[in-house]
Amino acid sequence: MNKKYKHIFFDLDHTLWDFDKNSEYTLQKLYTDYNLKNVGIPDFKTFLHTYNAHNERLWARFRSGFIKRDELRWKRFWLTMLDFQIGDTVLANELSMAYLELLPTQTILTPHAKELLEYCNEHYSIHLITNGYELTQKMKLQFSGISAYFSEVFTSERCNGIKPHKEIFEFALSTTGAGIEESIMVGDALDVDILGAANVGMDQVYYNPTKMQHDRKPTYEVASLSELKSIF
Ligand SMILES: [Mg+2]
Repeated sequence: MNKKYKHIFFDLDHTLWDFDKNSEYTLQKLYTDYNLKNVGIPDFKTFLHTYNAHNERLWARFRSGFIKRDELRWKRFWLTMLDFQIGDTVLANELSMAYLELLPTQTILTPHAKELLEYCNEHYSIHLITNGYELTQKMKLQFSGISAYFSEVFTSERCNGIKPHKEIFEFALSTTGAGIEESIMVGDALDVDILGAANVGMDQVYYNPTKMQHDRKPTYEVASLSELKSIF
């Protein structure tokens, strides 16, 4: 146990909740439920690959402020289908809505997430700081069975701020009564979680399962959540 820390702030997507696997499972279900093979998309793998490529490009445009969230959401399906010569806006919108409804009900956690939360819960106060909507993020917590571990959940919607900006961290610290020195942030995104926590002077653990090269200096770095037990 690390006596320095009393409060651990976790990120949710990609850190505890396996976004990629949950997204893939959701798309698999859509592919089957909407009979996309019959519409002209030959197999799921091609569908997934095409969707991911468009999704990534649109996310980059969204982050740069070129498009709004609503546009990102339906266009990733619209452009995916266009690649298969399907120009069906109604179907694109239906897929988009179904995806957003189904995704937060998925239950796959990242490796060792549950045992880590179990361990941390015995020794620390644990909270979430997550960029996202209140309802969506809370559904993910409930469906994946980890809701009870967190004393506070700070979503962008609740805090009216997003990581890496200071406001969401300051709101989280003041609401929990946690001091900067006794707090640490655990997250998978350098420009979001690590930069954000560093901005307010909070220690950080960078969860880097792909061992991506970088030149930042997080307080700690781990490739597996199981390594966190040696820090905490
Ligand atoms: Mg994340």
